[in-house]
Amino acid sequence: MQYLVKSVIKETHDVVTLVLDAQNDTIEYEAGQFITFIFSNRNGKEERRSYSISSIPDEPLSITVKRVANGSYSRILVEKVKVGDVLTGLAPAGFFILPHTSRINSKNSFIFFAAGSGISPIYSQIKALLKSQMTERIVLVYSNQSKKDVIFYEQLMKLASDYSSLFSIYFFFSDESDYRKARLSSSIVSEILTKEVGNNKMNTWLYLCGPFQYMLMITIVARGMGFVNEQIKKEQFVIEYPSVTKVPPDVTAHTITIIEKGKQVSWISKYPDTILQSAKRNGVQLPFSCEAGQCGTCSATCVKGKVWMYKNEVLMEDEIGNGRILTCTGYPIDGDIELKIGSVT
Ligand SMILES: Cc1cc2nc3c(=O)[nH]c(=O)nc-3n(C[C@H](O)[C@H](O)[C@H](O)COP(=O)(O)OP(=O)(O)OC[C@H]3O[C@@H](n4cnc5c(N)ncnc54)[C@H](O)[C@@H]3O)c2cc1C
Repeated sequence: MQYLVKSVIKETHDVVTLVLDAQNDTIEYEAGQFITFIFSNRNGKEERRSYSISSIPDEPLSITVKRVANGSYSRILVEKVKVGDVLTGLAPAGFFILPHTSRINSKNSFIFFAAGSGISPIYSQIKALLKSQMTERIVLVYSNQSKKDVIFYEQLMKLASDYSSLFSIYFFFSDESDYRKARLSSSIVSEILTKEVGNNKMNTWLYLCGPFQYMLMITIVARGMGFVNEQIKKEQFVIEYPSVTKVPPDVTAHTITIIEKGKQVSWISKYPDTILQSAKRNGVQLPFSCEAGQCGTCSATCVKGKVWMYKNEVLMEDEIGNGRILTCTGYPIDGDIELKIGSVT
């Protein structure tokens, strides 16, 4: 897909929002999903980076990018990309999405924890929830280096004022001298959850987007307080590549059949190739991004046979129960498999 840059909005000294137009394609997405862009490096090799959508579906499509020190592509997107440029990318994807509206009611509360650019998908989700006005309470806990680094500060403050009975924000700034306002410690997470959730734990969802250790700390506190994994949704921006990958229980060759938009293609796959690697080797183009079982771009539905994944940090138990698998870390085992490629929404 081709995304035309319609405008560039400077959010902070190192963050821009790019407003995009998908030109000839109709883009469908849910709040919290991301777009994977395809770049070409100096040697002509393809490289992919994902950026969460910060808009909601009835707003102009936008992504919000923070420049990473020494980063290859965030630097280009923040400093070089201009109106009229065209970016190549995939359709929106990802599992960091709100529960289906049929599962949300006026008893539900949502507590969002964001750090730095982790606000991008969460900003979209907060706007979507406020628009629906279906929930009891929405809380944002947002950590940044300093106040000048806060992305969407004015917009968030306006939402907190427009929806004061529904939405409130806790800001944390690392440069604050009062340590209780500087760092989100486990005791502060516990205090916030106790205060904001009260007796409504069963009806509360937690959404986390920030560095790995930050999300781990919040998860440990929440689990200790009795939240179950299904209530805690996470999006991780930094891909962690496992140094050693586990060997599947069956390493014999099997036939993989892909069904996409009514078309069908088959090939024989053999360990050590994952489903995605063997697809590439056989010239079959499948969607993918992180190649580390983390982002969900490559997800497919297994309609026949069995897939074993050496890593999965994105699919929940219910999604796996519905046949969802990741091609980037998945292998066919115990026989041939048939996969359907298509969006989660
Ligand atoms: C699902 C998903 C959604 C994402 N959404 C957003 C988004 O909305 N906005 C956004 O700005 N970024 C987002 N990212 C991160 C983005 O894809 C890139 O990883 C990031 O912009 C760095 O790319 P780069 O080419 O500039 O750096 P690279 O050249 O890839 O990396 C440079 C170095 O920085 C490290 N690094 C990469 N990302 C980060 C980070 N976020 N913080 C600290 N160190 C990092 C790398 O490990 C590496 O050591 C998302 C990532 C994923 C997987």
